[in-house]
Amino acid sequence: RVKEKWATTRTKHPATSLALQYFDATYGVQLGQLWPSVRAALLSERKYGALLNNCSNDDVLANLHAQGSKDFLSDTEGRSPPCLEQEPEVVSEEESSDVSVSDLDGQQRSPLQLSTNIKCLVFPRGDITRFKPARPDICGLLGYYLMDAASVLPCLALDVQEGHSVLDLCAAPGGKTLALLQTQFIGFLCVNDTSVSRTLRLRKVLQSYVPKPLLSDQKLCITSFDGTKWEERNTFNRVIVDVPCTTDRHSLMEDDNNIFSKSRTGERQKLPQLQLELLLAGIIAACPGGEIIYSTCTLSQIQNQSVVEQAVHTAQEVHGIHLQVVDLRPLTRMFRKTFHFAPDLHLGEMVIPHLAANFGPIYMCKLRRLT
Ligand code: SAM
Repeated sequence: RVKEKWATTRTKHPATSLALQYFDATYGVQLGQLWPSVRAALLSERKYGALLNNCSNDDVLANLHAQGSKDFLSDTEGRSPPCLEQEPEVVSEEESSDVSVSDLDGQQRSPLQLSTNIKCLVFPRGDITRFKPARPDICGLLGYYLMDAASVLPCLALDVQEGHSVLDLCAAPGGKTLALLQTQFIGFLCVNDTSVSRTLRLRKVLQSYVPKPLLSDQKLCITSFDGTKWEERNTFNRVIVDVPCTTDRHSLMEDDNNIFSKSRTGERQKLPQLQLELLLAGIIAACPGGEIIYSTCTLSQIQNQSVVEQAVHTAQEVHGIHLQVVDLRPLTRMFRKTFHFAPDLHLGEMVIPHLAANFGPIYMCKLRRLT
């Protein structure tokens, strides 16, 4: 009897197996020869980075250095942090990315400036040491936030400058918000997430890392709106749209709340449409001349490049907004010692998991509003 009951309630196809089947079918084709090694990395323990909290009073950096981790932002190809500004690259037409969105003028190749205030420590390649949980300082603020170190890249690529107003449209639980705050450049920050419970978590994260005066209404606004219905237009200097996606790594590891479970099939199939609507809302919320980062943690071309292409097309056709794709190759060149990047993406850049540097997947594409 017990066996019978067990047999009837047991899930024949756990969501993690369904996810793996789906990835084998789609990424096997999309990534070709790269897929077996990316697959092995995705199924192995991920690596974290420790995003340093500049507001903490403790000497956390020295402590993390003593454990053998290093700030990957200072460990760039022959460049020390004060020189992070890139020389303009001379890129031939053949070398430049082939942006298949007809309304774009091609990728922009101006210098890339990076905030030097963000520090994210990682253990060296092949070293799978784990960071200990962060401890509160005398004021109760935690010294670092553990996150996928590749998640810092979209924040760097956003290139926030002194006094900018910034919108983080899908912000919870707040890793990228914290990274953006570390720049200490933001004039006004608007953080939003449609989920009330996740917004609460985000609020708690901010309270654990940021001193109260910096969380005042003059500097920060936290909301729980549906981002697709964001009403402010032509407002923000910078917008980050870090959309819900199939969260590939999580989908292979956790059966609970898995987007590949049968009960969530409809939701999963609607993801690209939701992502498109969120990106369009972010584009409309940015001011002319403003910049937008679209990011995901999936390898899926349908949720990455296809969404960006469709958004650029719709922004022009329906909203009369012209966009330019910003070339992020200077950023990938800078950090190729730390991350593995997908080769030859026609639009945007992507960190792909690798056993010796098991970060990602993180896809990012940067757009600039021309009108
Ligand atoms: N940026 C976050 C970070 O770095 O910690 C992670 C964001 S997570 C990938 C995507 C978020 O989008 C989820 O927290 C989810 O609740 C939120 N979301 C889903 N649909 C949304 C919508 N229509 N509007 C705004 N946020 C939405």
